[in-house]
Amino acid sequence: MGVGAIELLKDLVSIKSENPGCYEYEIADFISHLLKKHDIEYEVIYSGNKRVNIVGFLYGESDHVLILNGHLDTKPAKGNWRTDPYTPVIKNNKLYGLGASDMKGGLAAMLSAVIRSKGKKLKGTINFQFVADEEMNSEFGMKYLVKNGYIKNGDFAIVGEPTNLKVATRSLGNLWLVIKVRGRKAHAGMYWEGISAIDRSIEIIDEIKSSIRKYRYKNDPEISNFPNVNVGYINGGFHPGTVPDYCEFSIDIRFRSEQEREIFKDMVNKTVTRILFKYDCECEIEPFGGGDMFAWDLASFENIDRYLDLIDQSYYAIIKQAAQKCVFLGGSDASSLVYDLGIPTVIIGPGSLKQAHNNNEWVFIDEVVNASKIYEEIISRWE
Ligand SMILES: [Zn+2]
Repeated sequence: MGVGAIELLKDLVSIKSENPGCYEYEIADFISHLLKKHDIEYEVIYSGNKRVNIVGFLYGESDHVLILNGHLDTKPAKGNWRTDPYTPVIKNNKLYGLGASDMKGGLAAMLSAVIRSKGKKLKGTINFQFVADEEMNSEFGMKYLVKNGYIKNGDFAIVGEPTNLKVATRSLGNLWLVIKVRGRKAHAGMYWEGISAIDRSIEIIDEIKSSIRKYRYKNDPEISNFPNVNVGYINGGFHPGTVPDYCEFSIDIRFRSEQEREIFKDMVNKTVTRILFKYDCECEIEPFGGGDMFAWDLASFENIDRYLDLIDQSYYAIIKQAAQKCVFLGGSDASSLVYDLGIPTVIIGPGSLKQAHNNNEWVFIDEVVNASKIYEEIISRWE
């Protein structure tokens, strides 16, 4: 069992850690054996049946703590894969397999960097957190660890989610709502006797979309397509000959600051009320179970230049290029680090969200190798 990132990635892809499914038990077992073999201090934290987290340390001269965070779980393998999702296949500088991008590539890179750094004289302390349940709201992962005091403080954190090795210094928040519209049933031949819940829903969707569009971040090229409204599902009616009296749909609005969450919530409420006022309709607006992710921005922290310098110097040392900045467009445990613990955080990892949660998921081999070297360089420079 080597500590090369790619060998490790092959091992990790071969071990199922689907959520929901078999969960993290087996992969955590594999990682703890590896850590034990290399005499690295760690703790295994059970947060539920087969729900497992690993938190450990490499101690340095100072007690300044750099957190390296990654999740152990993957989404279940659904859809038609060309190859077996649990058998890693390497072809044209790509490794295919479930979780290759999200985020066993980042996990392998972090884990191998930690193992190679063991035994070196470190200036600062490294706290690695390989956690459960990121794919389902982190109830058994980061939220459990924070709530029960397993993770207390850190000076700076790096989450290894896929960014194609760019440095994500901010992340969008989202608002998930379910809107339930009740109208009045009627025969389609006398449609004027009814109130179509579907027609009212379409009207509501159109208005919300056009109101939100006015807020587009035109001066922020990376996210000029936001805020956006995605209608994730719509259900209503049952027969062509009947005016539907019920329709339910969900919306997802993504934005760049938490202040906007309230603005957009309010805007949706007002739009819905305005439209329903015109008709004899009822409506409920409900949150969609636990989906909200918080918007965060490294720039909201003070004294972050030294962390950005550390990253830049490490990038130069390994790939002779400056680190490119980006916005992370998915959810991640970074929001827990930022909001629950107040730790300045960035996301840096191999792979891409384009491949994540997709059939035939893959990651560039080069990116995993470079990620591992960059993490190792950051660990050695941390003080
Ligand atoms: Zn992920």
